[in-house]
Amino acid sequence: MPDDSPNSWEARAAANSFYGFTDLPTIAQRGTVVLTGGEGPYVTDVHGRRYLDANSGLWNMVAGFDHPGLTQAAKDQYDRFPGYHAFFGRMSDQTVLLSEKLIEVSPYSEGRVFYTNSGSEANDTLVKMLWFLNAHEGKPEKRKILTRKNGYHGVTAVSASMTGKPYNSVFGLPLPGFIHLTCPHYWREGQEGESEEAFVDRLVAELEETIATEGADTIAAFVAEPVMGAGGVIPAPMSYFNKIQPVLQKHGIPLISDEVICGFGRTGHAWGAEAYGFTPDAIISSKNLTAGFFPMGAIILGPELSDRLQKASESIEEFPHGFTASGHPVGCAIALKAIEVIMEGADGNPPLIDNVRRITPAFEAGLKRLAQKDNIGEARGMGLMGAVEAVQDKATKLPFPGSLSVSERIANACTDQGLICRPLGQAVVLCPPFIMTDDQMDEMFSKLETALDLVF
Ligand code: PLP
Repeated sequence: MPDDSPNSWEARAAANSFYGFTDLPTIAQRGTVVLTGGEGPYVTDVHGRRYLDANSGLWNMVAGFDHPGLTQAAKDQYDRFPGYHAFFGRMSDQTVLLSEKLIEVSPYSEGRVFYTNSGSEANDTLVKMLWFLNAHEGKPEKRKILTRKNGYHGVTAVSASMTGKPYNSVFGLPLPGFIHLTCPHYWREGQEGESEEAFVDRLVAELEETIATEGADTIAAFVAEPVMGAGGVIPAPMSYFNKIQPVLQKHGIPLISDEVICGFGRTGHAWGAEAYGFTPDAIISSKNLTAGFFPMGAIILGPELSDRLQKASESIEEFPHGFTASGHPVGCAIALKAIEVIMEGADGNPPLIDNVRRITPAFEAGLKRLAQKDNIGEARGMGLMGAVEAVQDKATKLPFPGSLSVSERIANACTDQGLICRPLGQAVVLCPPFIMTDDQMDEMFSKLETALDLVF
Protein backbone atom coordinates (compact mmCIF):
# COMPACT_ATOMS: atom_id res chain seq x y z
CA MET A 1 0.00 0.00 0.00
CA PRO A 2 1.26 3.48 -0.79
CA ASP A 3 2.47 5.92 1.78
CA ASP A 4 -0.17 8.66 1.28
CA SER A 5 1.23 11.28 3.64
CA PRO A 6 1.51 14.61 1.75
CA ASN A 7 5.32 14.59 1.64
CA SER A 8 5.69 10.95 0.66
CA TRP A 9 7.52 10.08 -2.54
CA GLU A 10 4.26 8.61 -3.84
CA ALA A 11 2.33 11.87 -3.27
CA ARG A 12 5.14 13.95 -4.77
CA ALA A 13 5.36 11.66 -7.79
CA ALA A 14 1.61 12.02 -8.32
CA ALA A 15 1.69 15.81 -7.90
CA ASN A 16 4.35 16.75 -10.42
CA SER A 17 4.90 14.00 -12.92
CA PHE A 18 2.66 13.11 -15.81
CA TYR A 19 2.64 9.45 -16.71
CA GLY A 20 2.34 7.94 -20.13
CA PHE A 21 1.26 4.33 -20.66
CA THR A 22 -0.08 4.17 -17.09
CA ASP A 23 -3.46 3.24 -15.71
CA LEU A 24 -4.00 6.46 -13.74
CA PRO A 25 -6.84 5.17 -11.49
CA THR A 26 -4.53 2.32 -10.40
CA ILE A 27 -1.79 4.81 -9.59
CA ALA A 28 -4.28 6.95 -7.66
CA GLN A 29 -5.22 3.90 -5.63
CA ARG A 30 -1.88 2.12 -5.27
CA GLY A 31 0.66 4.92 -5.64
CA THR A 32 3.77 4.95 -7.74
CA VAL A 33 6.69 2.66 -7.12
CA VAL A 34 9.52 5.18 -6.76
CA LEU A 35 12.83 3.47 -7.40
CA THR A 36 16.24 4.47 -6.14
CA GLY A 37 18.63 1.74 -7.12
CA GLY A 38 19.28 -1.64 -8.59
CA GLU A 39 21.50 -4.64 -8.21
CA GLY A 40 21.69 -7.38 -10.84
CA PRO A 41 18.10 -8.05 -11.93
CA TYR A 42 16.63 -6.44 -8.75
CA VAL A 43 15.48 -2.85 -8.19
CA THR A 44 14.91 -1.15 -4.84
CA ASP A 45 12.28 1.43 -3.98
CA VAL A 46 12.36 4.41 -1.61
CA HIS A 47 11.12 2.21 1.23
CA GLY A 48 13.93 -0.29 0.72
CA ARG A 49 11.63 -2.91 -0.87
CA ARG A 50 13.32 -5.09 -3.46
CA TYR A 51 11.67 -6.27 -6.67
CA LEU A 52 12.87 -8.85 -9.13
CA ASP A 53 12.42 -7.09 -12.46
CA ALA A 54 11.10 -9.69 -14.88
CA ASN A 55 10.67 -6.87 -17.38
CA SER A 56 14.37 -5.84 -17.65
CA GLY A 57 13.28 -2.22 -17.14
CA LEU A 58 11.51 -1.93 -20.47
CA TRP A 59 12.99 -4.97 -22.23
CA ASN A 60 16.36 -3.21 -22.22
CA MET A 61 18.36 -3.58 -18.96
CA VAL A 62 19.56 -6.96 -20.11
CA ALA A 63 22.88 -6.86 -18.24
CA GLY A 64 21.20 -5.89 -14.97
CA PHE A 65 21.10 -2.55 -13.20
CA ASP A 66 24.67 -2.29 -11.95
CA HIS A 67 26.94 -3.73 -14.59
CA PRO A 68 30.46 -2.53 -13.68
CA GLY A 69 31.85 -2.77 -17.23
CA LEU A 70 29.07 -0.64 -18.66
CA THR A 71 29.25 2.05 -15.98
CA GLN A 72 33.03 2.12 -16.39
CA ALA A 73 32.71 2.54 -20.17
CA ALA A 74 30.37 5.48 -19.54
CA LYS A 75 32.65 7.06 -16.92
CA ASP A 76 35.73 6.68 -19.10
CA GLN A 77 34.04 8.28 -22.09
CA TYR A 78 32.55 11.11 -20.00
CA ASP A 79 36.10 11.82 -18.86
CA ARG A 80 37.50 11.69 -22.38
CA PHE A 81 34.84 13.48 -24.43
CA PRO A 82 31.33 13.93 -23.04
CA GLY A 83 29.29 14.72 -26.11
CA TYR A 84 29.22 15.48 -29.78
CA HIS A 85 26.82 15.03 -32.68
CA ALA A 86 27.42 12.98 -35.80
CA PHE A 87 26.86 15.48 -38.57
CA PHE A 88 28.21 18.65 -40.29
CA GLY A 89 31.06 16.39 -41.40
CA ARG A 90 32.10 15.49 -37.87
CA MET A 91 31.67 12.50 -35.62
CA SER A 92 33.46 11.09 -32.61
CA ASP A 93 35.98 8.27 -32.79
CA GLN A 94 33.54 6.15 -30.74
CA THR A 95 30.87 6.64 -33.40
CA VAL A 96 33.26 5.42 -36.11
CA LEU A 97 34.13 2.37 -34.00
CA LEU A 98 30.49 1.57 -33.25
CA SER A 99 29.43 1.78 -36.91
CA GLU A 100 32.22 -0.63 -37.84
CA LYS A 101 31.15 -2.97 -35.05
CA LEU A 102 27.46 -2.82 -35.99
CA ILE A 103 28.21 -3.74 -39.58
CA GLU A 104 30.46 -6.54 -38.34
CA VAL A 105 27.69 -8.05 -36.17
CA SER A 106 24.96 -7.36 -38.73
CA PRO A 107 24.03 -9.80 -41.50
CA TYR A 108 25.67 -7.38 -43.98
CA SER A 109 29.22 -7.39 -45.29
CA GLU A 110 28.84 -3.68 -45.92
CA GLY A 111 26.31 -1.00 -45.11
CA ARG A 112 25.89 2.20 -43.11
CA VAL A 113 24.53 3.16 -39.72
CA PHE A 114 22.53 6.25 -38.74
CA TYR A 115 22.05 7.13 -35.07
CA THR A 116 19.02 8.36 -33.15
CA ASN A 117 18.10 8.63 -29.46
CA SER A 118 15.33 6.03 -29.43
CA GLY A 119 13.62 3.26 -31.32
CA SER A 120 10.71 5.55 -32.28
CA GLU A 121 13.10 8.02 -33.87
CA ALA A 122 14.89 5.20 -35.67
CA ASN A 123 11.62 4.04 -37.27
CA ASP A 124 10.65 7.61 -38.04
CA THR A 125 14.05 8.24 -39.63
CA LEU A 126 13.84 5.07 -41.68
CA VAL A 127 10.52 6.21 -43.15
CA LYS A 128 11.96 9.63 -43.98
CA MET A 129 14.95 7.94 -45.64
CA LEU A 130 12.65 5.86 -47.83
CA TRP A 131 10.39 8.79 -48.70
CA PHE A 132 13.43 10.86 -49.66
CA LEU A 133 15.03 8.03 -51.61
CA ASN A 134 11.92 7.11 -53.58
CA ALA A 135 11.11 10.73 -54.43
CA HIS A 136 14.69 11.25 -55.55
CA GLU A 137 14.49 8.17 -57.78
CA GLY A 138 11.38 9.49 -59.50
CA LYS A 139 8.81 7.59 -57.42
CA PRO A 140 7.30 10.24 -55.15
CA GLU A 141 4.14 8.12 -54.74
CA LYS A 142 6.08 5.22 -53.20
CA ARG A 143 5.34 6.28 -49.60
CA LYS A 144 2.94 3.81 -47.97
CA ILE A 145 4.18 1.69 -45.09
CA LEU A 146 2.88 -1.80 -44.40
CA THR A 147 2.98 -3.07 -40.83
CA ARG A 148 0.80 -5.41 -38.77
CA LYS A 149 -2.05 -5.00 -36.30
CA ASN A 150 -0.67 -5.23 -32.77
CA GLY A 151 2.85 -4.41 -33.97
CA TYR A 152 4.65 -1.75 -31.94
CA HIS A 153 7.10 0.66 -33.52
CA GLY A 154 7.07 3.71 -31.27
CA VAL A 155 5.30 6.91 -30.36
CA THR A 156 6.36 9.71 -32.70
CA ALA A 157 3.60 10.63 -35.16
CA VAL A 158 5.12 8.39 -37.84
CA SER A 159 6.21 5.47 -35.66
CA ALA A 160 2.86 5.58 -33.82
CA SER A 161 1.20 5.38 -37.24
CA MET A 162 3.28 2.28 -37.93
CA THR A 163 2.16 0.86 -34.59
CA GLY A 164 -0.94 -1.28 -34.99
CA LYS A 165 -2.63 -0.47 -31.70
CA PRO A 166 -6.14 1.00 -31.57
CA TYR A 167 -5.20 3.34 -28.70
CA ASN A 168 -3.47 5.67 -31.17
CA SER A 169 -6.90 6.76 -32.42
CA VAL A 170 -6.97 9.21 -29.47
CA PHE A 171 -4.36 11.18 -31.45
CA GLY A 172 -6.24 10.86 -34.73
CA LEU A 173 -3.60 8.37 -35.88
CA PRO A 174 -2.58 6.54 -37.96
CA LEU A 175 -1.66 9.12 -40.56
CA PRO A 176 -2.89 8.28 -44.07
CA GLY A 177 -0.79 5.71 -45.92
CA PHE A 178 0.00 3.40 -42.97
CA ILE A 179 -1.62 0.04 -43.56
CA HIS A 180 -1.92 -2.62 -40.86
CA LEU A 181 -2.13 -6.23 -41.98
CA THR A 182 -3.31 -9.19 -39.91
CA CYS A 183 -1.32 -9.98 -36.78
CA PRO A 184 0.50 -13.29 -37.31
CA HIS A 185 -0.86 -14.77 -34.07
CA TYR A 186 -2.06 -18.25 -34.95
CA TRP A 187 -3.69 -18.95 -31.57
CA ARG A 188 -5.93 -15.84 -31.78
CA GLU A 189 -6.21 -15.22 -35.51
CA GLY A 190 -6.19 -18.75 -36.92
CA GLN A 191 -9.61 -19.87 -38.14
CA GLU A 192 -11.35 -22.98 -36.97
CA GLY A 193 -9.78 -26.05 -38.58
CA GLU A 194 -7.05 -23.97 -40.23
CA SER A 195 -3.53 -25.40 -39.94
CA GLU A 196 -0.66 -23.10 -39.00
CA GLU A 197 0.71 -23.35 -42.55
CA ALA A 198 -2.69 -22.54 -44.06
CA PHE A 199 -2.86 -19.55 -41.69
CA VAL A 200 0.51 -18.30 -42.96
CA ASP A 201 -0.62 -18.81 -46.57
CA ARG A 202 -3.73 -16.73 -45.84
CA LEU A 203 -1.53 -13.90 -44.53
CA VAL A 204 0.70 -14.14 -47.59
CA ALA A 205 -2.42 -13.96 -49.80
CA GLU A 206 -3.57 -10.91 -47.84
CA LEU A 207 -0.20 -9.29 -48.51
CA GLU A 208 -0.43 -10.09 -52.24
CA GLU A 209 -3.96 -8.64 -52.38
CA THR A 210 -2.96 -5.50 -50.51
CA ILE A 211 -0.05 -4.91 -52.87
CA ALA A 212 -2.34 -5.48 -55.86
CA THR A 213 -4.99 -3.09 -54.50
CA GLU A 214 -2.64 -0.33 -53.37
CA GLY A 215 -0.08 -0.73 -56.16
CA ALA A 216 3.52 -1.79 -55.50
CA ASP A 217 4.67 1.64 -56.69
CA THR A 218 2.89 3.26 -53.75
CA ILE A 219 4.46 1.05 -51.05
CA ALA A 220 7.80 2.09 -49.54
CA ALA A 221 8.36 -0.77 -47.07
CA PHE A 222 7.04 -3.61 -44.96
CA VAL A 223 8.24 -3.14 -41.37
CA ALA A 224 7.91 -5.93 -38.82
CA GLU A 225 9.18 -7.08 -35.45
CA PRO A 226 10.39 -10.70 -35.78
CA VAL A 227 8.65 -11.43 -32.48
CA MET A 228 6.08 -8.80 -31.57
CA GLY A 229 6.93 -7.38 -28.16
CA ALA A 230 4.47 -4.79 -26.92
CA GLY A 231 1.73 -6.60 -28.84
CA GLY A 232 1.97 -9.25 -26.11
CA VAL A 233 5.02 -11.31 -27.17
CA ILE A 234 3.76 -12.88 -30.34
CA PRO A 235 6.20 -15.02 -32.31
CA ALA A 236 5.08 -15.37 -35.93
CA PRO A 237 4.90 -18.95 -37.19
CA MET A 238 8.35 -20.15 -38.25
CA SER A 239 7.61 -20.07 -42.01
CA TYR A 240 6.01 -16.60 -41.99
CA PHE A 241 8.95 -14.38 -42.94
CA ASN A 242 10.36 -16.82 -45.48
CA LYS A 243 7.00 -16.79 -47.26
CA ILE A 244 6.43 -13.03 -46.94
CA GLN A 245 9.86 -11.92 -48.13
CA PRO A 246 9.75 -13.35 -51.70
CA VAL A 247 6.43 -11.57 -52.28
CA LEU A 248 7.97 -8.28 -51.15
CA GLN A 249 11.08 -8.88 -53.26
CA LYS A 250 8.97 -9.62 -56.33
CA HIS A 251 7.35 -6.20 -55.95
CA GLY A 252 10.48 -4.23 -55.00
CA ILE A 253 9.35 -3.57 -51.43
CA PRO A 254 12.08 -3.63 -48.76
CA LEU A 255 11.57 -5.75 -45.64
CA ILE A 256 12.69 -3.88 -42.53
CA SER A 257 13.25 -5.79 -39.32
CA ASP A 258 12.39 -3.81 -36.19
CA GLU A 259 14.88 -5.44 -33.83
CA VAL A 260 14.46 -2.93 -30.99
CA ILE A 261 13.52 -5.78 -28.61
CA CYS A 262 14.72 -8.89 -30.47
CA GLY A 263 18.17 -7.59 -31.44
CA PHE A 264 21.31 -8.53 -29.54
CA GLY A 265 20.33 -11.79 -27.97
CA ARG A 266 16.74 -11.65 -26.70
CA THR A 267 15.71 -14.62 -28.86
CA GLY A 268 18.98 -16.49 -28.26
CA HIS A 269 20.23 -15.22 -31.64
CA ALA A 270 22.05 -12.04 -32.61
CA TRP A 271 18.91 -10.89 -34.43
CA GLY A 272 15.30 -11.98 -34.44
CA ALA A 273 15.62 -12.16 -38.24
CA GLU A 274 18.40 -14.72 -37.77
CA ALA A 275 16.08 -16.81 -35.60
CA TYR A 276 13.63 -16.88 -38.52
CA GLY A 277 16.34 -17.34 -41.15
CA PHE A 278 15.79 -14.21 -43.21
CA THR A 279 17.99 -11.23 -44.11
CA PRO A 280 16.15 -7.92 -43.94
CA ASP A 281 17.00 -4.89 -46.07
CA ALA A 282 17.60 -2.82 -42.95
CA ILE A 283 17.57 -3.27 -39.19
CA ILE A 284 16.11 -0.96 -36.58
CA SER A 285 17.95 -1.23 -33.26
CA SER A 286 17.71 0.33 -29.79
CA LYS A 287 17.25 -0.89 -26.18
CA ASN A 288 19.78 -3.78 -25.93
CA LEU A 289 22.12 -1.78 -28.16
CA THR A 290 23.29 -0.01 -24.99
CA ALA A 291 21.85 -2.60 -22.55
CA GLY A 292 19.61 0.28 -21.44
CA PHE A 293 22.55 2.32 -20.11
CA PHE A 294 22.05 5.15 -22.62
CA PRO A 295 19.11 6.27 -24.79
CA MET A 296 20.18 5.39 -28.31
CA GLY A 297 18.74 3.99 -31.51
CA ALA A 298 20.31 3.01 -34.81
CA ILE A 299 19.25 2.22 -38.34
CA ILE A 300 21.56 -0.32 -39.91
CA LEU A 301 21.11 -0.11 -43.66
CA GLY A 302 22.02 -3.12 -45.75
CA PRO A 303 24.25 -2.56 -48.82
CA GLU A 304 21.53 -1.79 -51.34
CA LEU A 305 19.60 0.81 -49.34
CA SER A 306 22.87 2.22 -48.04
CA ASP A 307 24.29 2.77 -51.55
CA ARG A 308 21.09 4.26 -52.90
CA LEU A 309 20.75 6.61 -49.94
CA GLN A 310 24.37 7.68 -50.19
CA LYS A 311 24.02 8.47 -53.92
CA ALA A 312 20.73 10.31 -53.48
CA SER A 313 22.14 12.36 -50.59
CA GLU A 314 25.30 13.25 -52.54
CA SER A 315 23.23 14.54 -55.41
CA ILE A 316 21.36 17.03 -53.19
CA GLU A 317 24.54 17.61 -51.15
CA GLU A 318 23.08 16.54 -47.80
CA PHE A 319 20.43 14.36 -46.17
CA PRO A 320 18.70 17.03 -44.08
CA HIS A 321 18.06 15.03 -40.93
CA GLY A 322 19.75 14.32 -37.58
CA PHE A 323 19.37 14.78 -33.83
CA THR A 324 21.57 16.89 -31.56
CA ALA A 325 22.73 13.74 -29.79
CA SER A 326 22.97 11.51 -32.91
CA GLY A 327 26.00 9.27 -32.44
CA HIS A 328 26.69 10.60 -28.93
CA PRO A 329 30.19 9.39 -27.99
CA VAL A 330 29.15 8.22 -24.51
CA GLY A 331 26.27 6.27 -26.00
CA CYS A 332 28.58 4.79 -28.62
CA ALA A 333 31.21 3.82 -26.01
CA ILE A 334 28.50 2.14 -23.93
CA ALA A 335 27.08 0.37 -26.99
CA LEU A 336 30.54 -0.95 -27.92
CA LYS A 337 30.87 -2.35 -24.41
CA ALA A 338 27.30 -3.70 -24.40
CA ILE A 339 27.89 -5.59 -27.65
CA GLU A 340 31.09 -7.03 -26.17
CA VAL A 341 29.29 -7.99 -22.93
CA ILE A 342 26.30 -9.57 -24.68
CA MET A 343 27.79 -11.08 -27.82
CA GLU A 344 31.50 -11.66 -27.25
CA GLY A 345 32.19 -11.88 -23.54
CA ALA A 346 34.00 -9.17 -21.62
CA ASP A 347 36.42 -8.88 -18.72
CA GLY A 348 36.89 -12.63 -18.46
CA ASN A 349 33.15 -13.38 -18.47
CA PRO A 350 31.37 -15.43 -21.12
CA PRO A 351 28.94 -13.64 -23.45
CA LEU A 352 25.53 -13.06 -21.91
CA ILE A 353 23.91 -14.58 -24.98
CA ASP A 354 25.33 -17.92 -23.76
CA ASN A 355 23.33 -17.53 -20.57
CA VAL A 356 20.22 -16.67 -22.58
CA ARG A 357 20.61 -19.98 -24.40
CA ARG A 358 21.40 -21.84 -21.18
CA ILE A 359 18.33 -20.65 -19.26
CA THR A 360 15.83 -20.59 -22.15
CA PRO A 361 14.76 -24.25 -21.63
CA ALA A 362 13.94 -23.52 -17.95
CA PHE A 363 12.10 -20.37 -19.02
CA GLU A 364 10.05 -22.29 -21.57
CA ALA A 365 9.32 -25.03 -19.04
CA GLY A 366 8.12 -22.42 -16.52
CA LEU A 367 5.79 -20.88 -19.10
CA LYS A 368 4.45 -24.29 -20.07
CA ARG A 369 3.75 -25.09 -16.42
CA LEU A 370 1.68 -21.92 -16.08
CA ALA A 371 -0.25 -22.88 -19.22
CA GLN A 372 -1.68 -25.84 -17.24
CA LYS A 373 -3.72 -23.42 -15.14
CA ASP A 374 -7.44 -23.18 -15.87
CA ASN A 375 -7.35 -19.48 -16.71
CA ILE A 376 -4.24 -19.43 -18.85
CA GLY A 377 -5.20 -19.81 -22.49
CA GLU A 378 -1.78 -19.66 -24.07
CA ALA A 379 1.86 -19.54 -22.97
CA ARG A 380 4.12 -18.40 -25.76
CA GLY A 381 7.50 -16.89 -26.50
CA MET A 382 10.92 -17.24 -28.02
CA GLY A 383 14.25 -17.16 -26.22
CA LEU A 384 13.92 -15.00 -23.12
CA MET A 385 10.72 -13.25 -24.11
CA GLY A 386 7.48 -14.87 -23.05
CA ALA A 387 3.87 -14.24 -22.12
CA VAL A 388 0.92 -16.00 -20.55
CA GLU A 389 -2.51 -14.91 -21.71
CA ALA A 390 -5.45 -15.06 -19.32
CA VAL A 391 -8.84 -16.28 -20.52
CA GLN A 392 -12.17 -16.86 -18.80
CA ASP A 393 -12.62 -20.05 -20.74
CA LYS A 394 -9.84 -22.10 -22.26
CA ALA A 395 -12.01 -23.70 -24.92
CA THR A 396 -13.61 -20.50 -26.24
CA LYS A 397 -10.58 -18.27 -25.44
CA LEU A 398 -13.08 -15.76 -24.02
CA PRO A 399 -11.25 -12.81 -22.48
CA PHE A 400 -12.03 -11.54 -18.98
CA PRO A 401 -14.38 -8.54 -18.81
CA GLY A 402 -13.86 -5.47 -16.62
CA SER A 403 -12.32 -2.04 -16.82
CA LEU A 404 -9.18 -3.02 -14.91
CA SER A 405 -7.82 -5.74 -17.14
CA VAL A 406 -7.07 -9.09 -15.60
CA SER A 407 -3.43 -8.73 -16.60
CA GLU A 408 -3.26 -5.44 -14.70
CA ARG A 409 -4.61 -7.21 -11.61
CA ILE A 410 -2.05 -10.00 -12.01
CA ALA A 411 0.78 -7.49 -12.44
CA ASN A 412 -0.38 -5.62 -9.30
CA ALA A 413 -0.43 -8.89 -7.37
CA CYS A 414 3.10 -9.57 -8.67
CA THR A 415 4.28 -6.16 -7.45
CA ASP A 416 2.89 -7.04 -4.01
CA GLN A 417 5.03 -10.23 -4.14
CA GLY A 418 8.15 -8.24 -5.07
CA LEU A 419 8.07 -9.07 -8.78
CA ILE A 420 7.78 -6.58 -11.63
CA CYS A 421 6.17 -7.89 -14.79
CA ARG A 422 4.20 -6.18 -17.50
CA PRO A 423 0.47 -6.41 -18.26
CA LEU A 424 -0.19 -6.20 -22.00
CA GLY A 425 -3.77 -6.63 -23.11
CA GLN A 426 -4.91 -9.87 -21.51
CA ALA A 427 -1.37 -11.17 -21.24
CA VAL A 428 1.36 -10.86 -18.65
CA VAL A 429 4.76 -10.52 -20.20
CA LEU A 430 8.10 -11.79 -18.91
CA CYS A 431 11.36 -10.66 -20.46
CA PRO A 432 13.98 -11.17 -17.79
CA PRO A 433 17.51 -9.80 -17.92
CA PHE A 434 20.07 -12.03 -19.63
CA ILE A 435 22.00 -12.39 -16.34
CA MET A 436 19.24 -14.39 -14.60
CA THR A 437 20.44 -17.27 -12.45
CA ASP A 438 18.51 -20.52 -12.01
CA ASP A 439 17.40 -19.42 -8.52
CA GLN A 440 16.14 -16.09 -9.82
CA MET A 441 14.24 -17.92 -12.56
CA ASP A 442 12.59 -20.10 -9.88
CA GLU A 443 11.81 -17.01 -7.82
CA MET A 444 10.21 -15.30 -10.83
CA PHE A 445 7.91 -18.22 -11.67
CA SER A 446 7.00 -18.96 -8.07
CA LYS A 447 6.02 -15.31 -7.44
CA LEU A 448 4.03 -15.16 -10.66
CA GLU A 449 2.27 -18.39 -9.75
CA THR A 450 1.35 -17.01 -6.32
CA ALA A 451 -0.01 -13.86 -8.01
CA LEU A 452 -2.07 -15.92 -10.46
CA ASP A 453 -3.50 -17.97 -7.59
CA LEU A 454 -4.44 -14.76 -5.75
CA VAL A 455 -6.25 -13.33 -8.79
CA PHE A 456 -8.07 -16.44 -10.06
N1 PLP B 1 10.14 -0.71 -31.86
C1 PLP B 1 9.90 -1.69 -31.00
C2 PLP B 1 9.82 -3.10 -31.48
C3 PLP B 1 9.74 -1.41 -29.64
O1 PLP B 1 9.49 -2.40 -28.77
C4 PLP B 1 9.86 -0.08 -29.20
C5 PLP B 1 9.71 0.26 -27.77
O2 PLP B 1 9.34 -0.53 -26.96
C6 PLP B 1 10.10 0.91 -30.15
C7 PLP B 1 10.24 0.57 -31.48
C8 PLP B 1 10.19 2.34 -29.74
O3 PLP B 1 11.36 2.56 -29.03
P1 PLP B 1 11.47 3.81 -28.04
O4 PLP B 1 10.54 3.56 -26.91
O5 PLP B 1 12.92 3.80 -27.66
O6 PLP B 1 11.11 5.02 -28.81
